[in-house]
Amino acid sequence: MHKLDIDLIEMTMDIMKYAINRISISQPEMGTPKNEETLKKLVGETITEKGIGGEVAFDLWKEHLMKVNVPVDHPRNLAFVPAAPTRAATMFDLVTSASSIHGAYWMEGAGGIFCENEAMKWLVSLTGLPKGAFGVFTSGGTAANLSAIVTAREYWRSQNKQNQQKRGLILTSVGAHSSVKAMAKVIDADVFLIETEDRLSGSTVQKAIDGLERQERERLFAIVATGGTTNAGIIDDLDGISTICEQENLWLHVDAAYGGGALAADSVRHLFNGIEKADSITIDPHKWLFSPYDCGAIIYKQPELAKQAHAQEGSYLDIFKDEGAHGFNPTDYQIQLTRRVRGLPLWFSLATHGTDKYKESVERGIELATIAGKLIESLPHVELVRQPSLSCVLYRRIGWEPQDYTNWTYDNHKKGFALVTPTKWKSGDAFETVSRFCFINPDTTEKDIEMILETMV
Ligand SMILES: *Cc1c(COP(=O)(O)O)cnc(C)c1O
Repeated sequence: MHKLDIDLIEMTMDIMKYAINRISISQPEMGTPKNEETLKKLVGETITEKGIGGEVAFDLWKEHLMKVNVPVDHPRNLAFVPAAPTRAATMFDLVTSASSIHGAYWMEGAGGIFCENEAMKWLVSLTGLPKGAFGVFTSGGTAANLSAIVTAREYWRSQNKQNQQKRGLILTSVGAHSSVKAMAKVIDADVFLIETEDRLSGSTVQKAIDGLERQERERLFAIVATGGTTNAGIIDDLDGISTICEQENLWLHVDAAYGGGALAADSVRHLFNGIEKADSITIDPHKWLFSPYDCGAIIYKQPELAKQAHAQEGSYLDIFKDEGAHGFNPTDYQIQLTRRVRGLPLWFSLATHGTDKYKESVERGIELATIAGKLIESLPHVELVRQPSLSCVLYRRIGWEPQDYTNWTYDNHKKGFALVTPTKWKSGDAFETVSRFCFINPDTTEKDIEMILETMV
């Protein structure tokens, strides 16, 4: 079953060939959906006592199972937040797997962690956070947000004995990502939601704080601002909000899971002003920094506070804290113990291409949104709901009902042509169903956008 198995060598070659082929094509087939019952009929039992053999299993994968996935890097996949890992990053993801590195402790994963940290230094430099700020790679934005709010809550509790008895309260806006609310549930904190999906301003935050009852104000420990809302690409007034957090002694977490990549883009960098005063920042390299899944990041102004919140204790772990094993231990700064060195593919890709190439590729996403906006304005059957923001474009097909958007989405998906999904936007008091593009992939063309809009005529 292990090494030296001749079949396995052949299988390795087959798999490498498949991987090379998949990495080489820029327009992979867009999978069309099938339900579980249908798939089961097609592939039958795959987990059996004796095994069905690698060749058979791999054939089933190629023939049936791969074909029902939608590749996130398809240039006409503009739904949710797609992705576009570089070939260098994807190849090094294979290397990461093959190298079997434990990424929790320096003692075991020094080489991998060194590389992760080099990439992290660049990420931190984009934020403008002061010297001493640093971060770690996580499984994604959700885990990064959780790691940050646990740190914030523990810090708040450490400041004042009375806080230890209190249930925490977080203030954010409706535009914040669902994971902020979900992670507040995990730590059993309440969330006060400011009713706006538009840019959250400092004065709105101040008003919300001033409007809290005394007991609520005493429970408030953090503000979560968004650096690029997932739905519309809106960046909150980070400068204004950070000033208030300083005055009110509140933790500022900036969730830039999607938008964080745009810190590299000179054309929009000023929109993030104030981010350098945050206490923690989430950025997802698997969204707009061309890393394969899964790769998020959490950055702290004072990593020591994260360590106080997250470092795990255990007799079998003591050796890692020993002088002889000294080094940076990523496990101490987020919720996960055993971890993949998931920042390694990003490091290799950055080293290969250089940071200028990253700048250009992110700028291209923003440019594609501008191009789409102009196209939409020039066509009679569609109109912009709001001006494009970062790489998000919200637009409506004039005269369509919600069901029309859904049918259109399914139609294009079933044809294997495109994946563009509807969303909602509040206009006045009501929520309107609209269509949304999110551009990440620099291989998406103007022609792709034109063709998609044509299917709406
Ligand atoms: C995508 C996203 C998240 C969640 O990140 P995952 O990597 O999916 O866990 C959180 N916040 C924002 C703003 C996002 O766009």
